[in-house]
Amino acid sequence: MYYSIEKSPGREFNTDKLTIMKPILCNYYITYRCNGRCSYCDFCKKKNYRVVPDCSIDDVAQNLPQLKKIGIKFIDFTGGEPLLHPAIPEILKLAKRHRFCTSVTTNCLLYPQRAEELKGLINLLHFSLDSWDESENDQIRGKGSFASVMQSIEVAKSLGERPDLLFTATPANFKAIDELVSFAQNQKLMLIVNPVFKYSDQSLLTNEALDYLNKFKNKKYVYINQAFHQLIRHGGNDQAKPRCRAIAATMVIAPQNELLIPCFHQAQLAMPIKSNLRQILKSQPYLRMKKQQGTFPFCQGCTINCYFDPSFLYKIDRYFWMSLASKLKYGFDKYIR
Ligand code: SF4
Ligand code: SF4
Repeated sequence: MYYSIEKSPGREFNTDKLTIMKPILCNYYITYRCNGRCSYCDFCKKKNYRVVPDCSIDDVAQNLPQLKKIGIKFIDFTGGEPLLHPAIPEILKLAKRHRFCTSVTTNCLLYPQRAEELKGLINLLHFSLDSWDESENDQIRGKGSFASVMQSIEVAKSLGERPDLLFTATPANFKAIDELVSFAQNQKLMLIVNPVFKYSDQSLLTNEALDYLNKFKNKKYVYINQAFHQLIRHGGNDQAKPRCRAIAATMVIAPQNELLIPCFHQAQLAMPIKSNLRQILKSQPYLRMKKQQGTFPFCQGCTINCYFDPSFLYKIDRYFWMSLASKLKYGFDKYIR
């Protein structure tokens, strides 16, 4: 599945001094299995994902203290559908014991059943919802998805949780924002507007669609990261002048307990962690890849949000300020308003 960096066609590129900052985010893939059917995602389609065993709790227990020492502050426990992992409450409890800020995004198909055992363990709980129209949403995300999200909101609120709604905006559904904003405001829940990104044959948002979404950027309970929009308008990452800091900012752990480099979607190197996560970060293969982050041929035009979000912190430029301003609005709307 992966080839070694010696064969990598990316060229060396000396990024900037801020890459000496330690990674702050870990994208921890605890399972590759998924019970969803989202039209823009590979997880439910690729058969090879289904045979990968879920991560072991022993590996998580061994990795978390090391991640803490490395400087990781946020762990996104992801998948596939993370709620399919039988031990997700135990995994989250371990993370809380180490005082990580945790996030989980779920399609909600299992949330009502598992909500009690997850209560209080997730700092940033995200429910995926792509339209206020049930048939449009379920056409995108699979039958029963809309009803599961609605039920999950009720259950979460009854337990004192405050989930965010995660709207993946595509060229086909971006106008759904109108009704989703009204719904989020009525529910006093944040609506995170996440532009779809391209890693196989998805189409990106056009400028017209970005303009449409942008009209909502200052509405209460709406989070639109302006830096993502700017990146898309500028054609994504420029291989010759990369803005991606995927390796500097993020650590990606696969269920098989491997560190994936440079990112999940274009992993070229899978380094077995065993018990030496901190040693990997000092190894030559890792450091060589870090110098090349964002410069590989497949990096041209990339807009993968989960890597650019932390990357924007690693260089002080207009993306940095745009992202920071958007995050401050999120914080105000969610915690102060
Ligand atoms: S629920 Fe998540 S992982 Fe599963 S198919 Fe949908 S987007 Fe992909
Ligand atoms: S630019 Fe995209 S594909 Fe390249 S390393 Fe960064 S996130 Fe991965």
